[in-house]
Amino acid sequence: MPILAADKELSVYENMAARFDVAAAKLGLDEGLQKVLRSPNKEITLYIPVAMDNGKLEVFVGYRVQHSIVRGPAKGGIRFAPDVTLDEVRALASWMTWKCAVVNLPFGGAKGGVICDPQKLSRRELEAITRRYTAELLDFLGPERDVPAPDLGTNEQVMAWVMDTYSMHVRHTTTAVVTGKPLDLGGSRGRREATGRGCLIVTDRALQKLGRRRDEQRVIIQGFGNVGSVAAKLLHESGYKIVGVADIHGGIYNPKGIDVPRLLDHVLENGKLAGFPGCDRVAPQEILTRDCDILIPAAIENQLTSHNADRIKAKVIIEAANGPTTALADDILAEKKVFVVPDILANAGGVTVSYFEWVQDRQGYFWSEAMVNERLEEMMVASFDDVCGYAERHAVSPRIAAYMLAIDRVAFALKLRGLYA
Ligand code: GLU
Repeated sequence: MPILAADKELSVYENMAARFDVAAAKLGLDEGLQKVLRSPNKEITLYIPVAMDNGKLEVFVGYRVQHSIVRGPAKGGIRFAPDVTLDEVRALASWMTWKCAVVNLPFGGAKGGVICDPQKLSRRELEAITRRYTAELLDFLGPERDVPAPDLGTNEQVMAWVMDTYSMHVRHTTTAVVTGKPLDLGGSRGRREATGRGCLIVTDRALQKLGRRRDEQRVIIQGFGNVGSVAAKLLHESGYKIVGVADIHGGIYNPKGIDVPRLLDHVLENGKLAGFPGCDRVAPQEILTRDCDILIPAAIENQLTSHNADRIKAKVIIEAANGPTTALADDILAEKKVFVVPDILANAGGVTVSYFEWVQDRQGYFWSEAMVNERLEEMMVASFDDVCGYAERHAVSPRIAAYMLAIDRVAFALKLRGLYA
């Protein structure tokens, strides 16, 4: 969402850095280490020439930011969207470092982006962008270097092209160079649902902590892509009442509860939520402030801001998206005593199963879906409890606790390694 020039709100990267600074100060982190961990390791800008279907040449701008490789290979998705900026990719790369550290994965953090509108590109044009992007990054990618995954606007097919391009250049099939691949090309069972499933796991855990019951919870989900739609399905199956959902075109709201399986069929047929019977229509932003108990922002950054945070009705927020809440909104939500499960914990299910995929590819031994889900649950529950324990011990919010835990782990590894001069 664009930030107005006259606004007090910060850019996406500044929002990440604002929380980083608070957590680093609480930890008493050495000033030098703070400087090192605040900035990325590498930022690569690419100009990607593509012959379009109409015969004309076009140049697309792409980025890959590697924030950290202190705890292992850089890890993080590739985003295809018309409004991607370097500032956003830089923030998302840092969040991957903190996210991987919160769930204790042996990865650093990275993120990629290409400024393009996948809705307006043919399959051939998308493939050309993906292959050239990958080829330009050959020296930087690899199972031991940097391992991409899907994000907004990319999917299993795009990951298959990344894998194939890399493999053709290194002269052998290297499935572990990318995660979120199709099942038949070294993908993991449960990866597609993993982020949504992780959200269900932390929502359950939050309710347990707050002493509330699932069947009393009215849930609103903003975003109906891979994360939001799976979260809606799994929460509905587990007995939560989904009362509102929204995609970029608009939202639907029904206080009596939405029949989610029917809604999923409707979206499959029509490509959007609009037109689903029996619900009020609401604007995409308005859905955030409708009445509910649990709000799950599962779209993009900077959605809960100083402009709407005081009107949020939910008492629990599960951040399925990356960076949906701004630093200014944090203070307002804290005053309202909203329990926020922060993004770097709440949406870590995706990268956790990406880690499982990478492990399976390297071993050439594939797990059952039950085993993937069981291990995911174990790791998400442990991380949730780690974060809440940290929050109580240090008297900080779960968000600052998650940053502190992550920064502490990365700083400790950096101190052990030392600086190579
Ligand atoms: N794009 C997802 C995220 O933001 C997944 C990243 C990954 O699996 O590497 O967490």
